[in-house]
Amino acid sequence: MSEAVAPAGEPKLEAKSPFEMRVNLGKDVPETDVRSALEQGDMGFLHSFTTGSTVDGPGVRVVAWTTGCMWRCRYCHNPDTWTMRNGIPVSAARAIEEVRKYRHGLKVMSGGLTISGGEPLMQRLFVMNLLAGAKAMGMHTAMETNGFLGEELTADDLDKLDLVLLGIKTWDPARHKELTGRDNAPTLALARRLAARRLPIWVRFVLVPGLTDDAADMAQIARFAASLGNVERVEVLPFHQMGRFKWHELGIRYALEDVPAPTPEAHAKACDIFQAAGLKAN
Ligand code: SF4
Repeated sequence: MSEAVAPAGEPKLEAKSPFEMRVNLGKDVPETDVRSALEQGDMGFLHSFTTGSTVDGPGVRVVAWTTGCMWRCRYCHNPDTWTMRNGIPVSAARAIEEVRKYRHGLKVMSGGLTISGGEPLMQRLFVMNLLAGAKAMGMHTAMETNGFLGEELTADDLDKLDLVLLGIKTWDPARHKELTGRDNAPTLALARRLAARRLPIWVRFVLVPGLTDDAADMAQIARFAASLGNVERVEVLPFHQMGRFKWHELGIRYALEDVPAPTPEAHAKACDIFQAAGLKAN
């Protein structure tokens, strides 16, 4: 794949991985321009583009990582994406041109474009412009979301998506609020809406020892996901500490300093719970 080259004077969009720390890249954009970008969708803020991902949807993917998130998950591994202005201000046209460079390779490798974050729906119109651009090139499209702003998605928006990677953090509403700062009802409502449209979902569940590994809670998520009929798989993502340095560098109190990654046995047990409900889980 060819390398994304930034126009002179602009920060490079491409990153080796989303674990590159990026802050304040959009700090000089005036508030009025931010508001107008959000209203028009012709400009947005991206942490980066990464290429060659095999874990963010089917095949090999280019991933556009947006900035801005309304949740504060205690185990977030990219807290630099919480603030929109930490991202690079980029026009939708430039972002689409970046994607265009990879279109042939992505087709050969049965992949496509995935938009992740942060929370992409914080910049819904910009994201929809990117998805429309990718669709116009005949690409497979996916979006990873926590679903909290799912109500804002129009039927036209959903037509631009082939797959939704939906993060379900925990089932118990009080626990969910404690872990993320927000309710999980909108996430579940989006899942039902996608099911009604038969739009495929891959559920993403982060397994965090002591925080999300309650068997009964996982079984509730499993029952719900299985009842939808459009959940193609559940990805049980083991918690890791690769993002810890970001909390430290950003000066945010990190409550999970000593939390280990789940053991392979714990991961297998979680997968068993989802599989017992009839779901494909790994
Ligand atoms: S929803 Fe994702 S980006 Fe937002 S705080 Fe949670 S883990 Fe981080």
